Amino acid sequence: MEQELLKNNFERHGFKTSFFDTKKAASDYLKDQISGKKVAIGGSVTAQEMGLYEALSEKNEVIWHWKKAGREMLVEARSAEVYITSANGVSKTGELVNIDGTGNRVSQTLFGPEKVYFVIGNNKVCPDLTSAMERAKQIAAPKNAARLQVQTPCAKTGVCVDCNSPARICHSIVILERPSNGMEVEVVFVDEEMGY
Ligand code: SF4
Repeated sequence: MEQELLKNNFERHGFKTSFFDTKKAASDYLKDQISGKKVAIGGSVTAQEMGLYEALSEKNEVIWHWKKAGREMLVEARSAEVYITSANGVSKTGELVNIDGTGNRVSQTLFGPEKVYFVIGNNKVCPDLTSAMERAKQIAAPKNAARLQVQTPCAKTGVCVDCNSPARICHSIVILERPSNGMEVEVVFVDEEMGY
């Protein structure tokens, strides 16, 4: 992972950055950083692979709709002080790209929590914003559609055709160029493949 380049470009955009060789080291760091808070986690295979719900539940109240389903959990998450998510594509030039269907995840990264952590595996890092957008649309979204077993073309073929299916999971694309005013955003880079 090109740590110096990523650090320079993201911090130039107002993000904090931290770097770890393993998901275990990153999980230990987050456990150390977050204590006595109301924490919400977005839908994230990365967070699942890192065991963040279990790790953070030791010292925090953690809300995760993947552990207890229901729209009320998404509403409850809106009052979290800390929000944790990943991204579908990350540009080396310092932008984060996320696609959402319900909008809970992207909205929480724009307004609400005091602090947002984006946890990013090395497989998410792309040369520039165009390729990060392409990754989000052509790799992350089809894999998520397959995981969710929705009736979309991409769930079967692995290729996005910009469908108009009722089951389409891509309703919004958010490019975070800078943290929103009044919000601290930290990008936690991990030099392992995580999520998709
Ligand atoms: S727009 Fe449709 S085909 Fe493309 S990734 Fe989203 S759900 Fe799949």
